[in-house]
Amino acid sequence: MMERFSGSFTQQEPIPEAGIAAAMAVLRHGRLHRYNTAPGEVAETALLEEEFAALTGARYCLAVASGGYAMGCALRAVGVGPGDLVLSNGFTLAPVPGAIASVGAVPVFVEVTEDLTICLDDLAAKFACGARVLLLSHMRGHICDMDALMRLCAAAGVTVVEDCAHTMGAAWRGVPSGRHGRVACYSTQTYKHANSGEGGLLVSDDAEVMARAVLLSGSYMLYARHRAAPPPEAFAALKYDTPNISGRMDNLRAAILRPQLATLAERVARWAERYQALESGLADAPGLHLIPRPDHETYVGSSFQFLLPGWKPARVQALLARCAARGVELKWFGAEEPVAFTSRYDHWRYANPAPLPQTDRVLAGLIDMRVPLTFSVPDCALIARIIRAEVAAVWQGEVGPVAGVTGAD
Ligand SMILES: *Cc1c(COP(=O)(O)O)cnc(C)c1O
Repeated sequence: MMERFSGSFTQQEPIPEAGIAAAMAVLRHGRLHRYNTAPGEVAETALLEEEFAALTGARYCLAVASGGYAMGCALRAVGVGPGDLVLSNGFTLAPVPGAIASVGAVPVFVEVTEDLTICLDDLAAKFACGARVLLLSHMRGHICDMDALMRLCAAAGVTVVEDCAHTMGAAWRGVPSGRHGRVACYSTQTYKHANSGEGGLLVSDDAEVMARAVLLSGSYMLYARHRAAPPPEAFAALKYDTPNISGRMDNLRAAILRPQLATLAERVARWAERYQALESGLADAPGLHLIPRPDHETYVGSSFQFLLPGWKPARVQALLARCAARGVELKWFGAEEPVAFTSRYDHWRYANPAPLPQTDRVLAGLIDMRVPLTFSVPDCALIARIIRAEVAAVWQGEVGPVAGVTGAD
């Protein structure tokens, strides 16, 4: 009998009971705005910032309305303005170039390697464009050689802002992801590693950058209510010159997030078991190439990618359709048209992207899958068996002629 998977690829776990109780308390007292506190009360949002700073080892933290807002705010805070060029990964998702565009700047995309990380040779070559800032996206949790990247950027005087939407809880050589660059941005949108529906966090050790970010986020003149922020002196020189671009987080979302942060390490361990079940189930499958994970990388297995090197589009589409028929929802970065959350650099036409031949080759065969924690380890083993069988069937041409395909690719 043919096995079928019946789980939902978009179903996250419920909010922990402690988060529900904390949210109910906020709803009952009604002080949802972060600066609306009773005498002696510390807002949930300020506590969240303090706890996330401690978790990452950062001096400062700011909670905001979304991951995309965090990136736009970080870029402004490091001095990016209209017309500036900002380097970023050619392989990432739409909110990353969107954040660059939101400050009137122009993305310059850098090639991706077969390991799905930024190509350091292409990055070094693209410094010549004159960009002073790199918005580095740890896309799908793949972390490049951060020591080499930071050396390169330091030598070129390029400021690094990290997009850690997929690396909250990850690390490079034991250093938490987000602690290499000047500022790091995280997302607490439903599909990321902590879920408040929408939300974002910024961390930095730089007092001036963080003071600017706090003012930008819409703190009015209430910045002294923050706990994980620079001292009031850091704001004195900036408060008349920094626009208020409201994008604060509220106490309800912070209340939901705090108990999730407390169990992040435990969830990262559960993701690792699921990722490893997929990886071992697909090891050495003919026609399919797994993405190697470097020894120095501690990753969060919240999604899974593999390559179908050299496969023609019709064959990839046949595989996707056959997996979908068995309940396995795969996404493909090689599709001509953007679909749902999946889009590609050449779809972001407002940025007038230059062609990236190496990235085109990689993305043409790149398959992507979510791994929500509602999947059990046996679920992941089942998903791997289904993918393995269907890859074999399509790859070996056992399924008969696939529309538009003749013979083996
Ligand atoms: C989700 C995501 C973000 C942040 O997105 P928001 O939806 O604005 O929180 C940033 N970068 C990447 C790569 C993402 O997937």
